[in-house]
Formats: sequence, C-alpha cells, structure tokens
Amino acid sequence: MSIDKYPTDRHGWAEFLRQRQARQPLRGPQRVPWVVVGAGVTGLACARRLGELHRDQEILLLEARLVGQGSSGRNSGFAVSVSHFSGGFAADQKDFYRRINRINQAGLDMLREQVLEHAIDCQWHEGGFYHVAADRLSVEECDNFQRYLQELEIEHTSLEREAISERLGTDHYRAGIHVPNGVLLQPAALVRGLADSMPANIRLCEQSPVLGIENSTPLTLKLENSEITTDKLILATNYEASKLGFLNRYLIGSTLSGSFTRVLSKRELASLGSLREWGVLSLHGGGATVRLTADHRLCLRNTAEYHGGALLSDRQLARRQAIHRAGFEKRFPQLASVPFEYAWSGVEGISRNMTHFFGRQRDNIYFAGGYNGSGVSRGTAFGAALADYASGNRSDMVDDCLAFSPGAWIPPRPLLDIGAYLTVRSRFKGVGLDR
Ligand SMILES: Cc1cc2nc3c(=O)[nH]c(=O)nc-3n(C[C@H](O)[C@H](O)[C@H](O)COP(=O)(O)OP(=O)(O)OC[C@H]3O[C@@H](n4cnc5c(N)ncnc54)[C@H](O)[C@@H]3O)c2cc1C
Repeated sequence: MSIDKYPTDRHGWAEFLRQRQARQPLRGPQRVPWVVVGAGVTGLACARRLGELHRDQEILLLEARLVGQGSSGRNSGFAVSVSHFSGGFAADQKDFYRRINRINQAGLDMLREQVLEHAIDCQWHEGGFYHVAADRLSVEECDNFQRYLQELEIEHTSLEREAISERLGTDHYRAGIHVPNGVLLQPAALVRGLADSMPANIRLCEQSPVLGIENSTPLTLKLENSEITTDKLILATNYEASKLGFLNRYLIGSTLSGSFTRVLSKRELASLGSLREWGVLSLHGGGATVRLTADHRLCLRNTAEYHGGALLSDRQLARRQAIHRAGFEKRFPQLASVPFEYAWSGVEGISRNMTHFFGRQRDNIYFAGGYNGSGVSRGTAFGAALADYASGNRSDMVDDCLAFSPGAWIPPRPLLDIGAYLTVRSRFKGVGLDR
C-alpha cells in the first residue's frame, strides 16, 4: 500500500489558524513497547493515558497527515454531553441512554481539564446547544426528545419559534430545546493544542502513515521510511482501519460538507438574535448543523454522502456550496448578500447499526472508533479507556465502552458500493426544511 492512500486538502477549521511547526516524520528502525496509530481525539486521549500509566516507557504516536486534518479537526465542534436518540422514548433503553451519556460526560470532563491545564486556545464555549426542528417530522422528534430529557432528569428549556428567533435571529425553526450541558469549540485548534501538550514520554510523528502490519510477535509495522517493532498496537484510525485490514465493511466513511461566511459586520450581527455565539443541532438526523462562531462567522453543514471514504475535490465542494447556500438563505434571508468565504469536507466513521467499536481486534492489537458523527467527547473517553484496557486494567468506563453491540456487516454489491451508499442516504429520509 502506498502513502497516497492518505490524501488531504487545505480546507477546514485549520485554515483559520496560524502556521504550526509540524513534528518530523518517522525515519529509521524503531523498537518501542507501544504504538498508537492516528492522532485524532481517540489517539490523542489514548496516548496521553498510556503516558500516565507507563511513565518510564516511550509511546510512539503516528499520524498519517498533519494533526488537525483528520475528522477530529474537521468536525462541527460540538462536544456533546447529552446524546439525542431518534425515535420515541423507550423506557427499556434507559440504561443504554445513561451509559452513552456517562461516556460523553467523562470525555467532556477530560477535554475540559486538558484545555484548562494547558491553556489550549480553542474557543471553548460552555453555552450548551439548541436542538431544533423546522419540519413536521422533526417537530414530532422534538416531543420525543423532550420526553427523554424529562425521564432522564436532564436540565433543558423548551422553546417556541419566537424564543428561538429572539436568541438566534432566524424564524426558520418551529420548535426547539436548549440543553445547557455541552461545549462549542474550534476543532482544529483543540487537536493541535492537545497534540502540542503531550507528556514527555509521548513521541508524536506526523506525515507518517503506517502502511502495513505484519502479524508477528512482537508486531512489525511498515512505514515508507521506517520499520517499527512493538509489543502493543492501538489503532485509532477511525474509518480508515480497513486500509490496514480491520473492520472492512463494518465501519465506513461518510463524507460531509459545509461552508463558512466571511466575518459578519456589526450591522449584520445585529440582524441576528441576542446571542453572540451559539450552535444548532437538527432534530432530524440528516438536518443542518449551524453555528455562529466565536469570531462571528455563520457556519452551516448540510450534506452527507458516500464517497468511498474520501474528501470532496475542490470542484465537488464548489458544487455542494449550492446546497449550503440554499440552507443558509432559508434560515437567514436578511443575510442573503453575505458571501461564503470557506468551504470544507470531512469524513465521519459510521456503522450500519449505529454502534461503536472498542476492544481487542487481534493479539496485542486494539481499536476504538466509529462514533457516527458524535465523537469529540465520546472518542476522548473511548481513547483513554482503551489505554486502560490494553494495559490490562478494568474500570467502570472500560465496561461501559465494552458494552456496545457488535457492528452489522454492510454488504458489498456490484457497482458503486450500493450497500454503503444506501446506509448513508437513509439519514436524509423526510429531512424537508431541516436540511
Ligand atoms: C464534518 C463533520 C462534522 C462532525 N461534527 C461533529 C460534532 O460536532 N461533534 C462530534 O462529537 N463529532 C462530530 N463529528 C465526528 C467526529 O469528528 C469524529 O467522530 C471524531 O473526530 C473521531 O475521532 P477519531 O480520533 O476516532 O478519528 P479521526 O479524527 O478520524 O482520527 C483518525 C486519525 O488517524 C489517522 N490515520 C488513519 N490511518 C492511519 C495510518 N495508517 N497511519 C497513521 N495515521 C492514520 C488519520 O489521518 C486521522 O487523523 C463530525 C465529523 C465530520 C466529518
């Protein structure tokens, strides 16, 4: 396999950040006890925890691209504590709901601690989120979500159209719920900050894709300019695990895209509501995610498609901007003349049955990932718990992570991977005005 299997582009949240000194790619033969592959939130949390558990050992953390160019630096920046589960409240699922929210909360708490301890400048904003509905199906979903929040005794405020409009400056939504426990952040700044504040026994190498794994004892990893011998290997590679022969057709990549406006003027900002920073999550799974960012840009993401687990080309991205634009103008007609300045795509790891993956894949090889679009806080908790699990430790968090159902197989069909295509497509059923 070649290094070209890990392409990237210059788009996304990293475009807003200052140049950063990347770590050198790995060269020459290496012998280490631990290797973590992938420096997204999962790999970063895992490496940090391994560093705490094995203070006298070196942990090698390898990233195929530059830090911040994977999904962890390209998401919408909602660090969730309370998950929304589509459909009516199911009393027999209470333990499941609580378990996911426990994992989310643990990850969010870890991130908060690290951001504070290392003074990571990532626009961390503890304002919670607006879960909103524009169309009939999602208004029904709003009632479901409210019942769930009541049953689980989670703090929230229900809002009607006028109250949403007063806060956010759009009449588009018919109903919504504000959940105060949740954090907005600049994702690329977060992962860069986490990577640059690693303990001394973590050695990070960027632009160092692992190209193959030999099933020997100890394990041998092949890179373009290096060969590593290691006792234990953590794969935090998200949907790209299949490139190394793992979880093929259980975990696939769905490609999402969105746009940012330029920075709004004072007058344009005044045409919005009373809040100066907010985040909106749609109650329809295929609906748009919208933010007013700390630096006063509006950001909207509303496409998802099966694209073979790859980013969109510049041409494809330019075409998707028509869809972003339509979503933007129906929400903010008063800002119809404000142009988009940036567009980006990113790939999230999804499974057919919306499960996550955690645990041992083969002797001495462990994997965590595939969070179906909600991995910032959850991936952090999974990564830290995987370090414990791979070190032979058990904890309540490890048990919570181990309790997910196995992934469902996504059947390959001839022509265009229709199975994967349909898995992604299904999220738009009935999306209507929520897109
Ligand atoms: C557009 C978009 C919006 C999203 N919005 C949100 C949101 O608001 N909130 C939320 O919680 N989640 C969101 N998500 C999902 C979230 O980004 C992911 O769940 C999370 O980032 C997964 O983290 P990870 O570390 O497991 O994987 P990644 O961030 O994908 O990291 C895996 C890393 O492994 C590297 N890698 C892969 N293979 C190799 C190899 N062979 N050798 C070396 N390195 C390798 C990759 O380059 C990559 O950097 C969104 C995703 C997208 C795409």
